[in-house]
Amino acid sequence: MRELPPPNYEYEISKLVNTYKQAMLDIQRELQRIDLNDFQQATANATLKSIADILAQLDETTSAWIQTNVPVAVNDGIVRSIIALELVNTVAEAENIVKFSRLNSDLVKAVVADTQDDLLQVTQNVNRRVRTTIRQVTAEVLRANTTKGINGTSALTSDLVANLRKQLGSAVETGIIDASRRRWKPEVYAEMVVRTKMLQAHKEATINDGISRGANYGVISSHGAKDACRNWEGKIVKLTPAAEGDYPYIGDLPNREIFHPNCLHVVSPVKRPDRV
Ligand SMILES: [Zn+2]
Repeated sequence: MRELPPPNYEYEISKLVNTYKQAMLDIQRELQRIDLNDFQQATANATLKSIADILAQLDETTSAWIQTNVPVAVNDGIVRSIIALELVNTVAEAENIVKFSRLNSDLVKAVVADTQDDLLQVTQNVNRRVRTTIRQVTAEVLRANTTKGINGTSALTSDLVANLRKQLGSAVETGIIDASRRRWKPEVYAEMVVRTKMLQAHKEATINDGISRGANYGVISSHGAKDACRNWEGKIVKLTPAAEGDYPYIGDLPNREIFHPNCLHVVSPVKRPDRV
C-alpha cells in the first residue's frame, strides 16, 4: 500500500478565516461610529443597513469558497484511494483518471449544502445580536433623553455611554453557542466548520472510491497526533460494516477519539488487511 501524506487545506482555510475576521472588524467599526450623544433613529437604521450588507457579502464569499473547495477535497480523497490501491504511480497520473462517481457527486452536493447551512447560521446569529443590541441601546438613549427634559440635566452620563459602547462592542463576539453551551467567536467557528467538513469530504470520497474498487478496509493516517486520535493512527478499519474480519467499522469509531471537530485524520483503502 502507498500512502499519500495527509491533506493540508490550511492555506485556503486561513483565507476564509481572514474574511470572517475582517467582516467582524468592519461591523465593530460601524457600531463604534454611532454617536450616542447625538443619537438619531435614522443613524441606527443606516448602521443596520451597512452591517446587513457586510454580512451578505460575507455569505457570498463563503458560498463561493465552499463551492470551490469541497470538490477539491473530494478529488483529493479519490486520488488518495487510487494511489493507495496502486492503480498508477504518481499523483499526476491519478488526477487524470479521477472520475466523480454518482456517490461522490452526491457527496459534494451534501457537504456543500451542510457547510452552507452551518455558516449561514453564524451570519444570521450575528445579524440578530446586532439588531437586538442596537434596539436596546436606542431604547436606553431615548429614555435618558426623556429624563433630561424632566430635570434639566442629561441622564446620558459617561458611565451609561461607556456601558452602551461595551454592549455594542460585544455584539459580534459570539457567532454560535453550541449544544454544550460553549460560545464560539464567528471566525473560530467558521474555521472549525470548514476544516472539519473538508476532511470529512476527503475521507468519505476515499471510502466511496475504495469500496467501488473492491477495497473494503482502510488504514488510518498518521501525523503524530497528540490527542486521543493517536491511538488510532496506522490502525486497520473496515470501510463497510459488511466486510469480514475482526476490525472496527470506521463509521462506529467514537467521535471523542477520532474524526472529532477539527480532526485532520483520513484513511487509505486496502484490499488485503492481512498484508498491511
Ligand atoms: Zn484526529
